[in-house]
Amino acid sequence: MKVNELMTHQALSPSPTKLCVKVGGAGEVVFGGHAVVLIAGPCAVETEHQMMTSAQAAQRAGAKMLRGGAYKPRTSPHAFQGLGEPGLALLRQARRETGLPFVTEAVCVETLKRVAEDADMVQIGARNMQNFALLRAAGRQSRPVMLKRGLSATYAEWLFAAEYIAMEGNTQIVLCERGIRTYEPATRNTLDLSAIPILRMQTSYPVIVDPSHATGRKEAVHPMALAGVAGGADGVMVDIHPAPKEALCDGPQALSFASLLTLGEGMRDVAAAVGRA
Ligand code: PEP
Ligand code: MN
Repeated sequence: MKVNELMTHQALSPSPTKLCVKVGGAGEVVFGGHAVVLIAGPCAVETEHQMMTSAQAAQRAGAKMLRGGAYKPRTSPHAFQGLGEPGLALLRQARRETGLPFVTEAVCVETLKRVAEDADMVQIGARNMQNFALLRAAGRQSRPVMLKRGLSATYAEWLFAAEYIAMEGNTQIVLCERGIRTYEPATRNTLDLSAIPILRMQTSYPVIVDPSHATGRKEAVHPMALAGVAGGADGVMVDIHPAPKEALCDGPQALSFASLLTLGEGMRDVAAAVGRA
């Protein structure tokens, strides 16, 4: 089904073949295959100690990929904006020390250039989902792209955004459901798990969930991560921090290393229950 047909609410076509998106030179991480991929790391890269201990904790818990923002799209201009270049260096060091590839965000066309040189996967954040110049630029570089859903984007708008990337030649795209704005103030956003089965019927792109940004609350991350796996997600991305209370960014939603280990075990059980690994 073409994206423009989504807009007309036509009947869904039978599930298209799922695309396998490979990350990391040798293709060691695959989204859209049998295995559900766990991605973990700090919201923002802050210090060497924070990034390296997080990377080790991620690996211990069974994560196959690291995350961490070097460039941060913050709501307030007074909030920590990320380390920039030194943040990228720490991500490269974490990859060297663990062998795990990393995803990090490009917040504009200029940062995309640097991020695409270093990162194994380029993240386009919710606030940039309709930054069409950035989407086109992401389509002209060769790294796989994680496209997060916009704060109040419909599935059709999200798929059109993916189309901007694909049209330039890069179809290595993973969609990330990270919660949408609703009237409920108890959580940061509302995790829309229906996105998984509905997009599965409408697109070939793998779909993952980010229960950290979706809920904004560490207590809700574990159950929503498991719900995502049960619902057919191809991956789960979570924020972690060695000392969540001291985090410069999104501390309330960061899991401790011990909680991440428990989550890794829970994900293994749920994945097995739904025929995944
Ligand atoms: C992030 O993953 O660090 C992030 C900023 O997420 P989002 O774009 O979903 O808010
Ligand atoms: Mn964050």
